[in-house]
Amino acid sequence: MAEETIFSKIINKEIPADLLYQDDLVTAFRDINPRAPSHILIIPNKLIPTTNDVEVEDEAMMGRMFTVARKLAKEEGIAEGGYRLIVNCNSHGGQEVYHIHMHLVGGRPLGPLLMS
Ligand code: 5GP
Repeated sequence: MAEETIFSKIINKEIPADLLYQDDLVTAFRDINPRAPSHILIIPNKLIPTTNDVEVEDEAMMGRMFTVARKLAKEEGIAEGGYRLIVNCNSHGGQEVYHIHMHLVGGRPLGPLLMS
């Protein structure tokens, strides 16, 4: 059984977050430590720790993360200029919170993908 993280508390509104979107499958909120003018986290409501744990039954949820990213990028006004979607996995991938999440980052030129 995967261990709950702070993101479960955000989904359940037990702790505050700048919530931008929520439906039956996913939740989106602003990153507490933004690395760009727009930095949003899109997460499944179901606790899936990492991309290594994604199952075929989760495909609808994973797809919803992309359609919500598209919607929020448009609302943020960054769709045309462009943005980056990032999903980190485990320690080499730089993952800190073990509830799978997609970073939607944009609002300025982001430079090359790998910076270190
Ligand atoms: P990771 O490194 O796991 O891909 O990214 C985790 C992200 O979650 C980080 O960018 C971090 O700033 C963000 N984060 C961690 N704790 C909280 C929190 O309590 N609230 C919000 N809004 N973001 C958080």
